[in-house]
Amino acid sequence: MINRRSFLKACAVSGVGAGFGGFYDTFYHLIPFNDRGRKALHHVYGNADSPEWLRDPTTGKLKPNPDWILRHTVDQQCHSECGLRVKINRKTGRVQRIFGNPYHPNTLTDYDSIGKPLLTTAVRPGTVCARGNAGIQTAYDPYRITVPLKRRGPRGSGRWQPIRWEQLIKEVTDGGKIFADSGDPASQDLDVLGFKGLYAKRHEPMDPDSPELGRRTNGYVFQGGRIIGSRLAFARRFGNAFGSVNTYEHVNVCELSHHVATEHIYPGKHMTKPDIAEAEFIIFWGTQPGDANFPMQTMAKYTAEARAKPGGLKYVVVDPLLSRGGVIGDRAGWLPIKPGTDGALALAMIRWIIDKQRYNAGYISRPTQVAAEAHGELSHTDATHLVIDDASHPENGRFLTAKLAGLGAVPKEAEFDRVVIDAADAKPAVAAQSSQAVIEFSGEVNGIKVKTAFTRIHESASAHSIEEYAVICGIDSAKIVDLAREFTSHGRKATSEMYRGVVKHPNGYYNGVAVLLLNLLVGNLNWTGGLTIGGGSFGYQKGRYEVADIETDTPAHGVKLSREQASYEDSSEYKVIKANGGNPYPARRPWFPLSFEMYTELLPSAIQRYPYGVDILVWHMATPFYSAPGQGNDELIEAVKEPKNIPLIIASDIVVGDTSMYADYIIPDGSFLERWCHMGTTPTTLTKGTGIRWPVIELTEKTADGRHMCIEEFLIDVAKRVGVPGFGDRAIPDAKGRMWPLHRKEDWYLKATANVVFQPGPIGSEVPDVTALEVQVNDLAGFHESFKPALKPEEWPKVLSALAKGGRMEPRSHARQGDKLGHSFTGTLHFYAEEVALTRNSMTGTRFFGTTAWVEPATAMGKPLDKLDDPTDWPFTIITYKGALQTHSRLASNYVLRQIMPDNGIQVAVEDARRLGIRDGEKVWVVTPHGKRKGTARIIQGIRPGVITFNVGYGHWGYGATNYQLGGRRIEGDRVRRTGIHLTPIMRRDPDIGQMALMDLTGGSIVFYNTRARLEKVIAHV
Ligand code: SF4
Repeated sequence: MINRRSFLKACAVSGVGAGFGGFYDTFYHLIPFNDRGRKALHHVYGNADSPEWLRDPTTGKLKPNPDWILRHTVDQQCHSECGLRVKINRKTGRVQRIFGNPYHPNTLTDYDSIGKPLLTTAVRPGTVCARGNAGIQTAYDPYRITVPLKRRGPRGSGRWQPIRWEQLIKEVTDGGKIFADSGDPASQDLDVLGFKGLYAKRHEPMDPDSPELGRRTNGYVFQGGRIIGSRLAFARRFGNAFGSVNTYEHVNVCELSHHVATEHIYPGKHMTKPDIAEAEFIIFWGTQPGDANFPMQTMAKYTAEARAKPGGLKYVVVDPLLSRGGVIGDRAGWLPIKPGTDGALALAMIRWIIDKQRYNAGYISRPTQVAAEAHGELSHTDATHLVIDDASHPENGRFLTAKLAGLGAVPKEAEFDRVVIDAADAKPAVAAQSSQAVIEFSGEVNGIKVKTAFTRIHESASAHSIEEYAVICGIDSAKIVDLAREFTSHGRKATSEMYRGVVKHPNGYYNGVAVLLLNLLVGNLNWTGGLTIGGGSFGYQKGRYEVADIETDTPAHGVKLSREQASYEDSSEYKVIKANGGNPYPARRPWFPLSFEMYTELLPSAIQRYPYGVDILVWHMATPFYSAPGQGNDELIEAVKEPKNIPLIIASDIVVGDTSMYADYIIPDGSFLERWCHMGTTPTTLTKGTGIRWPVIELTEKTADGRHMCIEEFLIDVAKRVGVPGFGDRAIPDAKGRMWPLHRKEDWYLKATANVVFQPGPIGSEVPDVTALEVQVNDLAGFHESFKPALKPEEWPKVLSALAKGGRMEPRSHARQGDKLGHSFTGTLHFYAEEVALTRNSMTGTRFFGTTAWVEPATAMGKPLDKLDDPTDWPFTIITYKGALQTHSRLASNYVLRQIMPDNGIQVAVEDARRLGIRDGEKVWVVTPHGKRKGTARIIQGIRPGVITFNVGYGHWGYGATNYQLGGRRIEGDRVRRTGIHLTPIMRRDPDIGQMALMDLTGGSIVFYNTRARLEKVIAHV
């Protein structure tokens, strides 16, 4: 028998050990006959677990293995939110393995119907990716914190004291000199307002001279990281009841401009996706199947399956990086575009398609949904609608109305008040009275200069020749034409699909609109093989219980700290400057009238007190210093460490993280296996669905009354102690007006689940009653007993059933009906977004474009980036990618993933490495205008020369990466978590706006892809 020592010896002799030096432990234990020198339990299966299901050898029937509990919840190792089947040891309560939930559409192409009994799914669990499997290590991270911590010493000094829950709640609620004994001279005399003191000021204005800023209670700010669905709604419930508008999730640090660009075209919607399985041709812009997208594993699977079909999918990846999903060769291609120039390539295609009349004219010429449907179309656009195009006209930029056109009143049943040039007689007509309209028109109607929306986009695209666009985007003009020709050669079965690489630039919004407009030219929406808005979700907010709204006499209102969804021109500041004859532009910091969830603006705005200061900041799963470009710099960190700037910072985290390490208190939070959340499925899967995440294990300590500590229990206890409405005894109204209590999170989340379960839905989506076997397999009897009073008795059987299956999904068979998709969007699709056209840039005072255009990436004040950082000095552009083995910031504890990829490295093109004499594996400095970081050079073929990249998620300084003290005990950091390079903190900041990275002022995305850099060899000192 081979033992550990002889195995290692053999490896060393054969040279195997050299290659597997970092992994010998894993490799050794893969040998099934051995376990650390002991004989394995089974000669074939080694020490593998027993299966979850047992087959009766005589009858062949399956039954559950009583050793295991199987619970069905939703992953959050990334934002794909795939359904999970979690295998838990019934004796120890420990999670043993994670599979995919076969009822969830992300995990199986042909997922099981919700009506199917659990036992029938035994032989076919769903899939999860490597990250999904590794989630066990997130939950059982040895660095998990399970009790509240309070800082000792100054913020960020790395010394923590475990405290009791009651002390946490009392101190942060009552405030006062709560840091008197902290040993920090800077906060010893600090008189903290606390939640009670701030709430007492709820009737006071934030600023009497600026009433639009709302209540003083807007000084409470909740900065949420990856918080979504009902968990975000819970946080908002507290914020609204408290009187603050400042509850945020992280969207602008991600790809907000994608959502805003989508909304430009599809009003009220933030995402479209291709029907991958039936598509003939897809352009994937800014990422590729198999890297981050919604949902990652599902898109990768659908794409692989579709490509493998005879005569199946062809696709092209447009991205500076060829990652693992961008396989080239048969049926797949790669266009390594210059970062930030996707809009130029898309506009070149638009120009060629329009010039060559390769667009779907029959579709585009229908001015209304009624006219479209009468001619067999499934959607319609505003292409033919007339827009006022006269700088001297007071309504310039608006759609022409019937009244302005001199056409009289609009018919009552009309969808909107718009005017077109009717195709039958070439005369102006109310859109509702035209079945077909002229697509291209520029002229006068009733003395007003107008153009169709289509003409505006044509003119915009024609601002450059194809050859000029080719130079801008670095893609050969012949290839651009080929791509445009191919895109328009598949009828409605071609789609233009985008993700983060397109939009995380100063011009991201315009890039995004251009890329998405390609879909309107072929008319692919709602068609099988085309584009979808998705099936939507089963809502959790209303129905049996009103879980979202709270009755309060001091509702939250006013301008948000981030100045999103608000116009600078409406502010008192603007009006006063105007009234005094001054130039109000630029604003002190940008305003974001078209954007939302402007996470990266919170810390700099709080420090600058613009438009107001912050009294209490809660970081929940938030790590701006690690994940927000440019924010992990010394100056901002020092400002946040100064208690006078933000007197109370409370973090909610599962570890002492890269940012939570600078808080005053840390509330222990549950990992994704310990949380609640209701969230909709993505459009990719085509059907309607809501996944339910619920605590399948619980690891944090309990409060005195038996609740596991987490952010929700914190907010409940604070609200009750302060007297905030919507929490406590009479908190949640049911449909008959009866008030129900909210004393623990399940009081709320179970009611949200009942809303999901009992909502009317498509046939086949009805939730059946739970069976005895499902209760047994999921171990739900104790759960039911614990929370019985939270629901009416008749609601429990279906609520337990939804928990036992991890959500409620519409059957797969509803995805398509012949050549049409099962779910349609019938609103007007916009070539021209009037709202955008009428909105001003708060820095320059100029209007945004209502359509799209090639816009050179620039600073907030309009300085082109080439002039900001001369390419001669800074020859590289940094981009980032989210590979399949990491998310942005929270998988540092997943050692199995680190064993696959121990170091991310800085990836450099072969040509660049050769020119600079850099060898693979050599250490290099990446230098930007804001600092430098050392990393391991990885020389690759699949990247555009002049571009360097790194996989996000490495190079931590918190999250167990460095030492800290806990109650006087030293906790040793782990170098595995420090390994790798992380460039986000030294990304480019805007020179004109304090502590703001480069930013897309239209769409709101922070910029990840436009930092210039140079590479320097590390000189060894001897
Ligand atoms: S793609 Fe992978 S990590 Fe992301 S939710 Fe799905 S299984 Fe989890």
